[in-house]
Amino acid sequence: MGPPSSSGFYVSRAVALLLAALAAALLLALAVLAALYGRCARVQPSDLHHSGVPDAASSPRGTQEEQLPTWPPRPTREPAGTATPGHWRPPGPWDQLRLPPWLVPLHYELELWPRLRPNEFQSPTLSFTGRVNITVRCTAATARLLLHSLFLDCESAEVRGPLSSGPRDGAVGRVPVDDVWFAFDMQYMVLELGATLQPGSRYELQLSFSGLVYRDLREGLFFSIYTDQGERRALLASQMEPTFARSVFPCFDEPALKATFNITIIHHPSYGALSNMPKLGQSEKRDVNGSVWTVTTFSTTPHMPTYLVALAICDYDHVSRTERGQEIRIWARKDAIANGNAAFALNITGPIFSFLEDLFNISYPLPKTDIIALPTFDNSAMENWGLLIFDESLLLMQPNDQVTDKKAVISFILSHEIGHQWFGNLVTMNWWNDIWLKEGFASYFEFGVINYFNPKFRRNEVFFSNILHHVLSEDHALVSRAVSLKVENFTETSEINELFDLFTYNKGASLARMLSSFLNENVFISALKSYLKTFSYSNAEQDDLWRHFQMVVDDQSKILLPAPVKSIMDRWTHQSGFPVITLNVSTGAMKQEPFYLGKVKNQTLLTHNDTWIVPILWIKNGITQSLVWLDKSSKIFPEMQVSDSDHDWVILNLNMTGYYRVNYDNVGWKKLKQQLEKDPKAIPVIHRLQMIDDAFSLSKNNYVEIETALDLTKYLAEEDEIIVWYAVLVNLVTKDLVFDVNNYDMYPLLKKYLLKRLISIWNMYSTVIRENVAALQDDYLALVALEKLFETACWLGLEDCLQLSRELFKHWTNHPGNEIPYPIKSVVLCYGVAFGSDEEWDFLLNMYSNKTKEEERIQLTYAMSCSKDPWILHRYLEYAVTAAPFTFNETNIMEVVAESEVGRYIVKDFLINNWQAVSERYGTQSLVNLMYIIGRTISTDLQITELQQFFGNMLEEHQKLTVRAKLQTIKNKNVENKKRNARMTAWLRKNT
Ligand SMILES: [Zn+2]
Repeated sequence: MGPPSSSGFYVSRAVALLLAALAAALLLALAVLAALYGRCARVQPSDLHHSGVPDAASSPRGTQEEQLPTWPPRPTREPAGTATPGHWRPPGPWDQLRLPPWLVPLHYELELWPRLRPNEFQSPTLSFTGRVNITVRCTAATARLLLHSLFLDCESAEVRGPLSSGPRDGAVGRVPVDDVWFAFDMQYMVLELGATLQPGSRYELQLSFSGLVYRDLREGLFFSIYTDQGERRALLASQMEPTFARSVFPCFDEPALKATFNITIIHHPSYGALSNMPKLGQSEKRDVNGSVWTVTTFSTTPHMPTYLVALAICDYDHVSRTERGQEIRIWARKDAIANGNAAFALNITGPIFSFLEDLFNISYPLPKTDIIALPTFDNSAMENWGLLIFDESLLLMQPNDQVTDKKAVISFILSHEIGHQWFGNLVTMNWWNDIWLKEGFASYFEFGVINYFNPKFRRNEVFFSNILHHVLSEDHALVSRAVSLKVENFTETSEINELFDLFTYNKGASLARMLSSFLNENVFISALKSYLKTFSYSNAEQDDLWRHFQMVVDDQSKILLPAPVKSIMDRWTHQSGFPVITLNVSTGAMKQEPFYLGKVKNQTLLTHNDTWIVPILWIKNGITQSLVWLDKSSKIFPEMQVSDSDHDWVILNLNMTGYYRVNYDNVGWKKLKQQLEKDPKAIPVIHRLQMIDDAFSLSKNNYVEIETALDLTKYLAEEDEIIVWYAVLVNLVTKDLVFDVNNYDMYPLLKKYLLKRLISIWNMYSTVIRENVAALQDDYLALVALEKLFETACWLGLEDCLQLSRELFKHWTNHPGNEIPYPIKSVVLCYGVAFGSDEEWDFLLNMYSNKTKEEERIQLTYAMSCSKDPWILHRYLEYAVTAAPFTFNETNIMEVVAESEVGRYIVKDFLINNWQAVSERYGTQSLVNLMYIIGRTISTDLQITELQQFFGNMLEEHQKLTVRAKLQTIKNKNVENKKRNARMTAWLRKNT
C-alpha cells in the first residue's frame, strides 16, 4: 500500500478523522447487523443442490443464477441457532487468529457479480453475489474446515473429492457438509463435515455467497460516485489488503497461503471490467428479469496471496504504451484522459518498470499492467499485481498543479507501488509481523528510482525531509513500536491494520538505507537479488533476508562486519527507538544510550539494557573516514580526537544514513559552531541540516542545553539552503511559541535576531516569486520548505513579506482565475484576510461556496480564521454553529478560530453563550479538544481552576473527572516550555 497518510502529502487530518469516524460507524453498524442475523443457512446434505458450477479446469466457466440479497440482510433460511455468533461454541481453532494448517489452498475459481447499474446508485449500498471453487490439498485428517469469511451470507456449500490427479471425470465423490456456521470474532466460516478429509488428497470447496458493497468504504468491494463529462457516474473497485478479501469471498486470507486465481466478473454491459490479469473472453447472460449482463473472464494469475486480488468495474477511458513488450494502460475519468492528465504518469511508468527489472535482474512476470485512478481512494494507492489502484490526486496532473510538488509526489508513489511488484507481490512476507520487508524496501527504492531519472535530485536531503525527519521525531525507546514484531504478539485482526504506520514505512526504509550504507550499494543489491530470486512466488521472513545478506557478505572480503548481519540488524528491527551517540572529541570516547522523550537522569539504567551495534560513518574536516563500529555501550576512537586549540572538526553519521542522533561534548559542538561561522559551505548541506535537527531535538529532550542548539544558528545569515532554514524554523518557531501570548519578551528579540539573518534567503526567494515563480517547479526542497519561510517572515513582520502578500492577494481577488503560487497560498490568504475588512472575508466565503475540492475548502476555512476583527470572527462562529448559511463540513470552525491569533479571545465568550449549540454541532469531544487549544497558555493553578469551572458546565460527568488531570498535564508542559523560553530569551538578549 501507499505510505500512511500521516506522512503523506495531501490528506488533511480533518478528512482522515472524518473518514475514520465514517468507517467506524459503518463497522459498528455491520457488527450490530452481524449479531442480529445469522449469516449462513444451515446446510443439510439433502438441501445441497448441484450448483451447476463446472469443474475448475473446464471452459467456458458457468455463471451463477440471479439471487439478489435484500437489505437489510435477510435472516437465515433456517433457524439462526447454528449460525449466530451469540450461539455458544466450545473453545476451538475458531478462537485463534491464525488458520489451522490442515488445508493448503492451491487454486481459486472466483466469480463475482456486483449489481452496479448506470443511474441506479442512490443507495449507500449495492448487493453482490459470488461463487468460489477452491481447490485445496489436505495436510492433516480433519472433518472440519475453517476459512475466512466476513459479512458474507452463505448460499450453499459443497465439498467434492478426493480429486484424482489425472484428467477430471464426473465421478468425483462428495463429502457431506453437515453444518456451516460463522465464528465472528476471528472472521471464520466453519464447515462441519460428515466425513474426514484425508491427508495428501485434494478437494474442491464449492461455495456460493452474497454480500454488500458500500459506498467509499475502502474495505473489500466498494463503489464511488463521481462526475465525468458533466454527469454523475459510478464505479466499483476493490481493496483487499490487509484482510478484506474475506469480505468479498470466502478464502484462506493469510499472505503465505498463495494460490492461483481464475477470476470472472459479471457486470453491466455499459461498464468495462479489469482485474489482475488480461481479459480472456467475454460472453453474455440474462438475469431472472431478462436483463443482459456481460461476463468477463481473465487469465490465470501467478501464485499470489489473497490480499493482491483486484478488480474494477467502470466506464473509464485509458491511455497506453508498451514497455519491453508489456502493455501499460492508465485508466481515468474520460475528462481526465481527454485533458491529458495521465500523460505524466504514463511517461514514467514504463521506465520505472525497466529500471527495477534491470536492478533486480528479474523480469516483471505479468503480461500487462493496468493502473487505475479512482476519484476517491482515501489519498492512497495499492500495488495489486497487474492492477494498481491509485487515488487520482496521486496519479493525475491537474492544470493548477503548476508550482506544486505534484510531479514528485506522483513519481514517489508510482515508484513505491511498482517496487512492490518485487517486494510484496513476487516475494511476500510470511505474515503481517514482517510487512516492513515490503513497505520498508518499496519506500527505500522510491529514492533510488527518482535519483536514477534525475541525477541532480538531492537524495539525502529529500530522504531526510520525506522520511527520516518524521520518524525520528516520533520514535523513542518507551512508547513506539519495533519495525518487526513477534508473530505471537498478534491476537486480533484489527492489530494488522494498525501496522501500516510510520514505523513500518519510514523506519523500515531508514533501516534499509543504513544497511546499504555500511555494506555498499553492490553488496546490498546482490543480496536483495539473491533473496528475491530464491523466494519468488513464495514467502519469506526477516531471517531469510538476513541469511541472504550474510551469504553475500561471506562471499567477499572487502567488507568486514563486527557480527553476523542478523545480530546487527535484529536489534534495530526488534527494538523500539534508536540510540543517541555521544562523542567526546577531547578523548575520542564514544557512547550510546537509548533516546527517550524528555529524558530524566539515570533513565537509561532503569529501563533499557540492550545496546545497538552501530555503524559509524564519519567525516573529519570534510573528508570521509573509514567506517567504524560502536558494538558496545562505549568505546574509545583515538582517531576522532580533536584538541581545543586546533581547527579540526568531526561529524558522525555521514549523510545521515545511520538511524540515530549524534551528540558531542562541549568542545565538539563548539568546533562545529566555529566552522559554521568561519566557512559554513565546508560542511555539506545534509550535515548542516543534521546538526540543527539533532541539536534541537536533543535539547528539547534534555540531552544538551538549549544554548548549544541556539549557538548553531548564529551563522544563518550565510545560509542559502532553504531546507536548512526549514529545519531551523520548524524547531525554533514552533506552534507553541507562536501561540504563547505571554511571550511578549521573546518576540521582539527573536524578530531582531532572525530578520537580520533571514533577509538574504528571503530576498532570494521573494525575487523568484515575483519574477519567475515557475522556476520553483524543479526545486523540490523549496516547494517543501517555502511555506514555513514565508510564514515566519510575515509573522516576524518583515515589511516586504507583508507587502508581497498584499500584492498577491489583491491580484488574486481581481483575477481569481490566476492562482496564488501553491507553496505560499495559505499564508497569502491568511494575511489577505488579516489585513482586510469584511469585504475580503466575504470574498473568501464566496470562493469557499464555489469550490468543490476539499483541500481548497479547508485552506479557505483556515484563512477566514485569520481575521483580526472580533465581530467578523464572531459572525464566523455563528455561521458555523447557529445561523449556518454554510455547513463547513471539512473542519471544526470552533477549533480553527480558537487556534488563531485573535480568535482565541472570541471563542471563550462564544462558548459561554452558545455551548448548547456548539455541543450539538460538534459533540462534547470537541469541547475536550478546545480545552487543549485554549489551555495552551495556562501556567498557574488558578488558571486551571478557572478553566475547569468553565468547561465543567459543559462537559459530561465522565469527561469532567479527567479535566483537571488533563489541565494539570497541559500546565506542566507549559511551565517547562516557559523555562525553556526564558532561557531562549536570555540567550537572544545576549546575542542580538
Ligand atoms: Zn506500500
